[in-house]
Amino acid sequence: GNENISSPTRTKAIIQRYKFSFKKSLGQNFLIDQNILDKIVDAAGLDSTAGALEIGPGIGALTERLAMTAGAVTAVEIDRRLIPILRDVLSPYSHVKIRNDDVLKVNLQELFAEDFAGMDRVSVVANLPYYVTTPILMKLLEEKLPLDNIVVMIQKEVAERMAASPGGKEYGSLSIAVQYYSEPELVCMVPRTVFIPQPNVESAVIRLKVRERPPVEVADEKHFFGVVQASFTQRRKTIANNLKARFFPEEGRERLEALLAEAGIEPSRRGETLSIEEYARLSAVLLAAGI
Ligand code: SAM
Repeated sequence: GNENISSPTRTKAIIQRYKFSFKKSLGQNFLIDQNILDKIVDAAGLDSTAGALEIGPGIGALTERLAMTAGAVTAVEIDRRLIPILRDVLSPYSHVKIRNDDVLKVNLQELFAEDFAGMDRVSVVANLPYYVTTPILMKLLEEKLPLDNIVVMIQKEVAERMAASPGGKEYGSLSIAVQYYSEPELVCMVPRTVFIPQPNVESAVIRLKVRERPPVEVADEKHFFGVVQASFTQRRKTIANNLKARFFPEEGRERLEALLAEAGIEPSRRGETLSIEEYARLSAVLLAAGI
């Protein structure tokens, strides 16, 4: 048909024609709203010199929009039943590649080299399966792929945690991990009514502008993230109590308090008030002390 895949009538027709049944366990909620799709694609800033990696194309509503804008599109879909449907509905677009795979198991460096060799830059654009949002985003960020930005629809609360600043109750280790690798920006909130079937949660579109280098100097990233994790173990406890439990369980408080003083951090503060810069300083001081 001439209608967009995302139009409710076309989506329903595709689902009926192929006798597709939704799998809740795979987070299958398909978008049926052209405006939201346009907002997602616009936020990525694509053109014919840019590649787009989509994770979880479903029946291709977003893939079709990406095909109209980007120079090369690769869509990775875990559900084998969707592959023939995607090949069929996206057959007009020769620059779209469908891969049947679990994105968490794909070698992304290889995929980028194979599929996006001729592109100036690459974006990840997706309406993510909510049950694996964080593992997928952390894989994309930690592998330090040659990525320009990531524009994804995710659960609203998770988007707010990723974009949160120090001091609020949404700010935590996820905020710090995401902001270490990228600059997050909320694009828009999205009601449940634009999906079939409707999910149980509200959604949001978030844009992560991938940083060329981290905002702070960190000698040992594993150590840095370990200190962050430890500081949020019990949110209501002070930074001193959380660090003591994790790094100095058998000692008195003197050495810990001296190290905190050296990092310029009051022991009575809570983990949620520390900036990325303060965590970097704390990690450096602990590391220098052999901790
Ligand atoms: N992009 C489509 C849309 O917006 O209408 C579908 C989005 S739906 C929320 C998420 C999609 O991700 C589903 O098609 C699901 O099968 C797929 N998916 C779930 N887990 C996946 C994984 N580990 N790797 C790749 N795709 C996955």
